[in-house]
Amino acid sequence: MRALYRSLLLTTAVALALPVCGFAAEEVVVYSSRTEDLIKPLFDKYTAETGVTVRYVTDGGGPLLARLKAEGANTPADMLITVDAGNLWQAAQDGVLAPVTSPVLTKNVPAHLHDPEGRWYGVTLRARTIAYSTKRVDPATLSTYEDLADPKWKGRLCLRTSKSVYSQSLIGMTIARLGEEKTESMVKGWVANLAVPPFANDTRVLEAIDAGQCDVGIVNTYYFGGLIREKPALAVALFWPNQAEESGGVHVNVAGAGVTRYAKHAAQAQKLLEWLTEPEAQEMFAGINLEYPVNPAVKIDPLVAVWGSFRQDPHNVSDAGALQAQAVKLMDRADYR
Ligand code: FE
Repeated sequence: MRALYRSLLLTTAVALALPVCGFAAEEVVVYSSRTEDLIKPLFDKYTAETGVTVRYVTDGGGPLLARLKAEGANTPADMLITVDAGNLWQAAQDGVLAPVTSPVLTKNVPAHLHDPEGRWYGVTLRARTIAYSTKRVDPATLSTYEDLADPKWKGRLCLRTSKSVYSQSLIGMTIARLGEEKTESMVKGWVANLAVPPFANDTRVLEAIDAGQCDVGIVNTYYFGGLIREKPALAVALFWPNQAEESGGVHVNVAGAGVTRYAKHAAQAQKLLEWLTEPEAQEMFAGINLEYPVNPAVKIDPLVAVWGSFRQDPHNVSDAGALQAQAVKLMDRADYR
């Protein structure tokens, strides 16, 4: 008994001594719907700078959220990284994220790009904007998302499916901006102008414009970046709609992160979250996927910067989540499939 007691004491002493000696590295566990190629370089850098090990699991945003809910208080996850404010809003709504307030986060992430209650913060920014054929469209004839409902675009528009959370967020944010009635008439006009049924992804929309199936479409900026890097001769360009003072701005969305409600390493997770919004990590995180940094003080990747600057929709992106169910119903009524 005495021997056991002594060995327990010894174990405790060793355990306490380890962090001081630097043998037992601290760690953070991340669930990420961003793929390994997008996050590993960042986490490697974080570990090199801080000595903190970042362990991560990658999967779809839906499965990760289901897993967090099922694991409850037993989850090993300290942080959730996922794309689209709609998905982040849902995670917050489902109670798996903890509110975090931090002067670093408030300074680095503009107010409209994080949850007002601090349960998630945008870490990279993407715009969902108009793409057009440089062969068949004079950009002077483009103006707003609403204008794509005009009969002049009949048989010329390509869209991504309404099943995509990106489409749902765009329509949710348009409801926030214009109200339901105007948004519905816009979506009906879009549907009437479709050249072909909606596509499964944004790259198909861009390829269809390039191939002459349609002349205009709506895509996330980084898909354009990815495709143009592959095919520099792509006859497609981006247009920034709704730039007039009163017309709202370009629809933007985020990939974001939050500290989980049952984090075992909450303080470490918050430090990692803060680090992700600092200039060096921002430049790297945004650059890898040709996105925009959320931190306005950070340099934009040169490949992205050539598309020019634009005014963003200043509404809080969390509206995309709050209005998602309404958006889905509206698109259904308008026959947007
Ligand atoms: Fe995407």
